[in-house]
Amino acid sequence: MLKIDNLHARVAGKQILKGLSLDVKPGEVHAIMGPNGAGKSTLGNILAGREGYEVTEGSVEFEGKPLLELEPEERAAAGVFLAFQYPVEIPGVNNTYFLRAALNAQRKARGEPELDSMQFLKKVREKLAVLHLKDELLHRGVNEGFSGGEKKRNEIFQLALLEPKLAILDETDSGLDIDALKAVADGVNALRDAGRSFLVITHYQRLLDYIQPDFVHVLADGRIVQSGGPALALELEAHGYAWLKDRVAPEA
Ligand code: ADP
Ligand code: MG
Ligand code: MG
Repeated sequence: MLKIDNLHARVAGKQILKGLSLDVKPGEVHAIMGPNGAGKSTLGNILAGREGYEVTEGSVEFEGKPLLELEPEERAAAGVFLAFQYPVEIPGVNNTYFLRAALNAQRKARGEPELDSMQFLKKVREKLAVLHLKDELLHRGVNEGFSGGEKKRNEIFQLALLEPKLAILDETDSGLDIDALKAVADGVNALRDAGRSFLVITHYQRLLDYIQPDFVHVLADGRIVQSGGPALALELEAHGYAWLKDRVAPEA
């Protein structure tokens, strides 16, 4: 599904990623953890195709094709979903309208027919049911005055509608309350299936109390320095990231 090989990248002339490799198979949930400044968000932003990141070495393949050559819209059409770390507010633009436009843009890019309002509403109801959500967020402006938890629920709802093959969620290092964490976790759990993979980037061990990942990776100083199962997150919680320093092989 996703194969990252020896990725090196620079931001503002500074080397941030220094040989990151990661293999994600269909249906797997991978958590990426690591100390502040390790390069977690840089990884997410590069996969998203944000500007300002210079890949100097290595490759990223999505379903066997080079991902980094695609424009952000083409990545979405190919089935990659990238949650915004800081969701934009678009006051006055009805959220339902926005979501339908996003879905239809994706369908158009895939050469699929657009959904009319009846078809769209049917899909909306189906996804609300899957996520056990009410439709109250749909009638408001996009993220307008949403609480942290509501923004996360909206993001997860967007994810459910777009039905990606690979969802990349980068959670901020601060400001996520327990509601927001649970909204992310409940959404991920409800949308897990054999054909869909998740890359959950988080600073919080706590999130992984709610999402049982298949793999946990520690990103430190621009590389994956340790990989394991869910127990690794608990060890990190108990010992802190400093504990890893003694166990990490020197940089090649
Ligand atoms: P994390 O998400 O793991 O906390 P980031 O990927 O956000 O780490 O940042 C990794 C490093 O890159 C940090 O030292 C950060 O200061 C630096 N960095 C990230 N974005 C920029 C930028 N736009 N300009 C300069 N430095 C940046
Ligand atoms: Mg950070
Ligand atoms: Mg970050």
